[in-house]
This record gives sequence, C-alpha cells and structure tokens, in this order.
Amino acid sequence: MSGGRPAPLRLAHVEQRPEVVVVVAPDEPPAGCEALVVEPALAGVARIGTPGRAGSRIVVCASLPGIGGRYLVQVARSAAAGGWAAEELAALVVELERRCTYLLLASTVAPLLGSRPRRAGVHGPRRAVAWDGGGWSGAHTRDLAASARTVSGRGYLCAAAASGSAPPRTVAASLADLTASGVSVGRITHGVAAALGASWAVELLGAPPLSAAQLQRLREQFGAAPRCDWCGLPVVGRHCRRCSPGRHS
Ligand SMILES: [Zn+2]
Repeated sequence: MSGGRPAPLRLAHVEQRPEVVVVVAPDEPPAGCEALVVEPALAGVARIGTPGRAGSRIVVCASLPGIGGRYLVQVARSAAAGGWAAEELAALVVELERRCTYLLLASTVAPLLGSRPRRAGVHGPRRAVAWDGGGWSGAHTRDLAASARTVSGRGYLCAAAASGSAPPRTVAASLADLTASGVSVGRITHGVAAALGASWAVELLGAPPLSAAQLQRLREQFGAAPRCDWCGLPVVGRHCRRCSPGRHS
C-alpha cells in the first residue's frame, strides 16, 4: 500500500452466500451453484466423480447405505440451510458418519463389502455386518437386540428399518421386540434390500444426538481445521479421511 488510506474493513458487509445444494448422486446439482454431492454406498457403476473438489462441487462418498446414508444427507441439508459452506458440509458428513453405528442384516451383505474399508476377517458369505466408524466388521443376525440396547444406552438416536420380503423368523421377532421397546421401525419397499440385491434386509442406525450448539461448535472446528494438501478439504484428526479412508486417527 502506498501512501493513501488503508483499505476499509469489510466486516460490516459479510457476503450473503447462496445456500449450498446437497444432492445424492447420480442427481446432478443445478449448474452454477455450490454443491455437495453425496455418493451413496452401493452406488454401483453410477459414480459421478472422484471424491474431492471439482469446480463448484465437492463429492464425498458415504459408507453407510440405506437409512444411514439418508440420515447423513438430511443432516447436511439442514446444515446447508443454516449457511454452512460446501467444505464444512463435506467434513460434517465424513465426521458424523464416523460417529454413527450401523448394523445391517440381509440375505447377503457381500455387495457392501466389495470395495469398502473393512477389518481383517470379514469375508465369505455373510448375512450381518456392523459399521463402527472406521470400517465394517462381521456381525451376527442375533446381534440386533443387543445393538439396539447399546445404541439407546449411549443416548443415541436409534432407528431401524426393514426392506424387501419378510426377514427370517428370529430376525422378525427381534424387530417386534424393538418396536415394543419404543424404537422406531420403518418399513421401506425397496430400500437397502434392493440396493444389495438381497431378498430381505434389516438395518439399525445409531446416531449421536446433535444439538444446535454442537453443530455450531463443529462448524467452528471445521472452519479452523487445516486443509488437506491433496483434496483441499478440512482435515480433522491426523489424516484426511476422504483421501485416506479407513485409517484410524
Ligand atoms: Zn484429502
């Protein structure tokens, strides 16, 4: 700056950013707006792009299918309505997913394990897998009730859903017990069963409670976090979880 007056502070006119659009691939975001594209788990070949930022859109891949993925998108949309930036929303989806628990029982869960981070020992034909934030582990169809108790005991939001045809009798009985204990159990016509190509599927999602104050704290944390030198998005923890999925930090 030479001589003249210092540039005026512009704090008084903070730009009103247009709301970031959150879409689920393969839906294209409207042209010209900032967008977060959430690539669903089990998207198959319909991938819209590689994770990270490209122009005005950021792509993140959800690991949780079904009601898990839908919950993440719903939270991201409400944060977007609150004025969050696209990169903060991307961090929210990734970090919230790590804190969710999810149990999937189905006639087959193999398609989910195809290319996803998983723990050693999860292989072969199986009918149950559990997500614990960093990857998938083997589970058993009888784990439903215990898993719901753990989720509720932590004070987490707990929701279950059944899709496809009727599950085996023992699983149906556990679902009836869940309903009786006050867990909301939805019935979805296609849902994750169709996405898996399974005849039946039952899901149980546990999600941490998110108050407006917690969301605000998270946003501040993401805003202050260093940016990944690979994808440019906020890094919470030691590694960027979009570029190095499945690593624990
Ligand atoms: Zn990255």
